[in-house]
Amino acid sequence: MARTQVAIIGAGPSGLLLSQLLHLNGIDSVVLERQSREYVAGRIRAGVLEHGTVELLLEARLGERMLRERLVHDGVALGFSGRSLRIDLHALTGRSVSVYGQTEVTKDLIDARIAAGAKLVYEASDVAIEGFDTSHPKVRYRHEGRTHELDCDFIAGCDGYHGVCRQTVPPGAMRNFERIYPFGWLGILADVPPVSHELIYSNHARGFALCSMRSPTRSRYYVQCGLDEKVEAWPDERFWDELKLRLPEEVAASMVTGPSIEKSIAPLRSFVVEPLRFGQLFLVGDAAHIVPPTGAKGLNLAAADVRVLYRGLVDFYRTGSARALERYSEICLRRIWKAVRFSWWFTSIMHKFSDDPFAHRLQLAELDYLSGSTAALTSLAENYVGLPFEAAS
Ligand SMILES: Cc1cc2nc3c(=O)[nH]c(=O)nc-3n(C[C@H](O)[C@H](O)[C@H](O)COP(=O)(O)OP(=O)(O)OC[C@H]3O[C@@H](n4cnc5c(N)ncnc54)[C@H](O)[C@@H]3O)c2cc1C
Repeated sequence: MARTQVAIIGAGPSGLLLSQLLHLNGIDSVVLERQSREYVAGRIRAGVLEHGTVELLLEARLGERMLRERLVHDGVALGFSGRSLRIDLHALTGRSVSVYGQTEVTKDLIDARIAAGAKLVYEASDVAIEGFDTSHPKVRYRHEGRTHELDCDFIAGCDGYHGVCRQTVPPGAMRNFERIYPFGWLGILADVPPVSHELIYSNHARGFALCSMRSPTRSRYYVQCGLDEKVEAWPDERFWDELKLRLPEEVAASMVTGPSIEKSIAPLRSFVVEPLRFGQLFLVGDAAHIVPPTGAKGLNLAAADVRVLYRGLVDFYRTGSARALERYSEICLRRIWKAVRFSWWFTSIMHKFSDDPFAHRLQLAELDYLSGSTAALTSLAENYVGLPFEAAS
């Protein structure tokens, strides 16, 4: 039977980053991924990296291409009542954010792991975890028509919201917190220059819109849509027309449109499981929490979990002390709930929840208040660029 120190389920950003950081600290891991390498590398998802996530990627020695190709953003704009309010993140917090797509982060991670000879098993099916409440956990899976068993000290459940790890925990051992929002985001990717060099979040009576980007030549745009809507009902022309209607006039006027190269609808949800540790099993990233993408926190929260877990594991293998690992749940959950709160709040003030004009007036009053209050702007900015990390000991 094969053996490793840490069995990592899922080769998304959490699993790959964890295995890279463990490797740099002399800790062995095996990563089991249900999908193919091409599928994982091609998924279009997050794009905004907090300062702390950039630092963690540098710590993982992944920074070279990111530092060269990322777009550093010192500000972000909010559109409402036909105008645009720029929030100077850097002036308010001393920090910036970086635009560097999750697709690129994943590519860098896969390249680094393969270059280091990592044990990375793609298309592993029927992954099952056992004995995580004992000191001898085990993972079974099928690969290339054979059943494999893997002994380990710890299991890291980095397998996303639909993964097997959280589902294996007895329901009585955990508590789920969930909020489903009554709308989704219809997003397109297009090879056209971004309408602005910084992100624009727009509150409009027709619904929310976001202008984002992946590079100086590739734009990512979103409009709020109904949960029951289908991508097929949104030909490119309809998307561009709707997007422009939801933006301040001068922004819409300078929009360059073009054929979409990807189009998808994502539902919005807030979800947290407590605790994050069950014996030798640790839940990491989307396996443990989901936030609506409004605050750009999903990938950043996943990286923050990895930071706490890998440091705890390094401490354990170097000194024999499990103290940092024992605090994993508590430390991560404090950050997670703050990000859940921020993402929920930002979603609440930017989206259309109903036709109630009273509710829309309240949103506009809150946005107007923001524009006149350095204290309120600073609160938004410090959450957006990422709150400071808490020490584990
Ligand atoms: C459509 C979409 C759009 C998003 N947009 C944004 C955004 O704009 N901004 C933002 O901040 N965040 C966004 N997110 C969230 C962000 O992408 C996630 O927070 C991030 O991917 C979390 O990384 P992860 O590694 O924890 O989970 P994932 O990326 O979900 O990776 C989990 C991995 O586990 C694998 N897996 C699942 N089950 C099994 C199993 N049984 N066995 C083996 N492997 C398994 C999956 O195939 C996957 O590769 C988006 C998410 C989605 C789904």
